[in-house]
Amino acid sequence: MASHAYPRAHVPVTPVLSAGALLGPRDPHISAMTDSGEVRLVTSGRIALALAMRAIGLAPGDRVLVPAYHSLSMIPPIVAAGAEPVFYRVRSDASADLDDIAAKAQGARALVAVNYFGFPQDLAAIRAFCDRHGLAMVEDCAHSFFGASGGRPLGSFGDYAIGSTMKFLPIYEGGCLVSSRHSLAKVDLRSAGIGFELKASLAAVERGLEYGRLPAARLPLALKDGLWKLLRRGKGKGKSAAAALTPSSSDSSYDFDPRWLDKRSSLFSRLVLRFAARGRIAQRRRANYLALQAALAGLPGMAPLFPALPADVYPWAFPVVVADPERIFAPLKMAGVPVIRFAEKLWPGVDCPDSIELSRRVFAFPCHQELTDAEIRWLAATICSVVGAA
Ligand SMILES: *Cc1c(COP(=O)(O)O)cnc(C)c1O
Repeated sequence: MASHAYPRAHVPVTPVLSAGALLGPRDPHISAMTDSGEVRLVTSGRIALALAMRAIGLAPGDRVLVPAYHSLSMIPPIVAAGAEPVFYRVRSDASADLDDIAAKAQGARALVAVNYFGFPQDLAAIRAFCDRHGLAMVEDCAHSFFGASGGRPLGSFGDYAIGSTMKFLPIYEGGCLVSSRHSLAKVDLRSAGIGFELKASLAAVERGLEYGRLPAARLPLALKDGLWKLLRRGKGKGKSAAAALTPSSSDSSYDFDPRWLDKRSSLFSRLVLRFAARGRIAQRRRANYLALQAALAGLPGMAPLFPALPADVYPWAFPVVVADPERIFAPLKMAGVPVIRFAEKLWPGVDCPDSIELSRRVFAFPCHQELTDAEIRWLAATICSVVGAA
């Protein structure tokens, strides 16, 4: 069934701007990857990945070890750098297979490790492996903007770390490149222009209004009308103008557009990042994850991908392994349940059986900070009734 046949998700799949987003506890004990070293704020995670490849200084034909379980958006930035992606195996528990990595490391220059859904890999072991083999380690923290492993902040293990801030904050665009080991002085960024700045702020406000998270009712009517008109006008501009104005990474596309390599994230996104209520994000994501885990426990044909939620993990989403994905996907979507299918499509030629299984069978449900207790209860009850009836 085509995706346009499904109704709009009943609850937002990513964080939307709310009055509480910038208020509330800003707990400094919760580490974010941007605390780990030098930082460059760009417009997407894939642009940050391309900049990491550039910083490593790959020569044409260099091999880069990439997990067989991946987002399609991760591969073009590597190919665009002239490198050859070599896919290493990921086990059924989403852990990187170090034996397979060792078998494929000959002649490789770099390795990308992903902390899937916010759960860290064995980063100390991967770091040690990279040191032994002279590989540059890129820590993909697209799912783990916050968190630590063994007391060390995520993002601090790799030579470079990349993040996708859009996945964690109520912003329209955003990604980051971080390094605790190398200078990023050569990464020069500039503004993408006033049109982009406006679009980035209005798009975030629009989603907040759409899901009723902003106190729009209390805005003076004239101001609200003016705002809507501005938003509508932006929409009416047609595809080409919008495409030039904003990156396709903001439209759930896998495209890689090198025109964004030297563009800074919008002022709006940078301010949200700066003033985000970290403690609230951390606490809400964990609470929502645990509530979903408890409510869906024992549901036939569905089991959590990870057995437990460790301390210092602030999950991107709640991933489950489902027995019969084809049977329940459409009914869930029809009921308005947002289903994230990370790695649903894999790069051609991937032959790791566990990754292919994960790609097919893992569904993830949102657990972000803007979901209320009532919404999590609705999500859990709807999933239970759909899965029970299917
Ligand atoms: C989303 C994602 C990226 C790319 O991030 P964008 O901000 O969408 O460009 C990279 N790696 C992983 C694991 C992702 O899920």
